[in-house]
Amino acid sequence: MQPIYLDNNATTRTAPEVLEEMLPFLGELYGNPSSMHSFGGQVGKYLDTARERAAQTLGCHPQEIIFTSCGSESDNTAIHSALASQPEKRHLVTTRVEHPAVLSVAKHLEENGFDVTYLGVDSKGRLDLDELRDSLRKDTALVSVMTANNETGTIFPIHEVAEIVKEKGILLHTDAVQAVGKLPLNMADLPVDFLALSGHKLHAPKGVGVLYVRKGTRFRPFLIGGHQERGRRAGTENIASIVGLGKALEMAGQNIAEENTRVKALRDRLQDGLLKAIDLSIVNGDEDSRLPNTLSIAFKHIEGEAILLLMDQYAICASSGSACTSGSLEPSHVLRAMGVPFTYAHGSVRFSLSRYTTDEEIDTVIDKLPPIVERLRAMSPFRDTDAEKPACTC
Ligand SMILES: *Cc1c(COP(=O)(O)O)cnc(C)c1O
Repeated sequence: MQPIYLDNNATTRTAPEVLEEMLPFLGELYGNPSSMHSFGGQVGKYLDTARERAAQTLGCHPQEIIFTSCGSESDNTAIHSALASQPEKRHLVTTRVEHPAVLSVAKHLEENGFDVTYLGVDSKGRLDLDELRDSLRKDTALVSVMTANNETGTIFPIHEVAEIVKEKGILLHTDAVQAVGKLPLNMADLPVDFLALSGHKLHAPKGVGVLYVRKGTRFRPFLIGGHQERGRRAGTENIASIVGLGKALEMAGQNIAEENTRVKALRDRLQDGLLKAIDLSIVNGDEDSRLPNTLSIAFKHIEGEAILLLMDQYAICASSGSACTSGSLEPSHVLRAMGVPFTYAHGSVRFSLSRYTTDEEIDTVIDKLPPIVERLRAMSPFRDTDAEKPACTC
């Protein structure tokens, strides 16, 4: 059975056009681009093309693109570089809702004597820019604020964040893994110093990413060894995946319009259909500033994991709002930071669509999910159907 794949914020299908461009590099074109002989050297021009495509999509210079192994490596490298290049500065500012690729690094730094400020969010997942302003210090080495949240889709006002942070001359990193290909981003008018993106979130394969580093920013490599990536990231280039990412980024640039029209319309139809059919349900996140493909929805009094298991019978793929990584059923750090009421947070499910999502798939979910919720609620020990809805609902 073909899955109804609505978990695109976790990973995406590799686009057929991307796969096609990659195949020669998994076969006959196996040379090392650093080799002196032309058999290897010929591969180098494909690396250049991928870099140019990435630069074109981000509106930056090719030399500002570093290919990495994933979004997590890009995030780690940005933070490492900012701290290593300014050893006198021991303070980091980030948010409570970052991806673990940033948050776990911040926790690790804290355990090693750095000072970290974690900015909070309100019930819709929004930042308080005054809190950001007040958090900046003379010894702040870096501010790391994501462009858009992977769990709720809430978009942060990254241009305003940049204005505040750069006015103080402080380095700024943004984890744009969920934003690239969904929102127009142009480095010419977004004054961040570092930006992370990941291939497998935008229809390239897993295991490849980009770290954008603005020209003139002092940089310290994370991986040390060979002189690849102009000495900024050692390791023989993953050429097949880099070529794939170049193609995916070229397509992503062209696909933003579709994401914000057709995909967004499907997401809105899914949201309206579920809210209408299922009482005591709320949307998590900022409906006024949200990724066009993401719906995080919470059903009171039931467990997100149970919903996922029952949806699996119909091959519907989504995610829950729990910290599955810890093996516990604690609501995720994002929903906790937003103060989503416990009885809702546990029953949160994230649907994330893509350009491959069809009308029929959305119809199936709107058809199958309400009886699943009803069935689970009938078994739930807490059945106060008269309970009030929180004020922020639909
Ligand atoms: C997926 C994701 C990452 C990690 O990217 P990988 O390539 O899987 O390491 C980082 N940040 C955000 C917001 C993500 O969604």
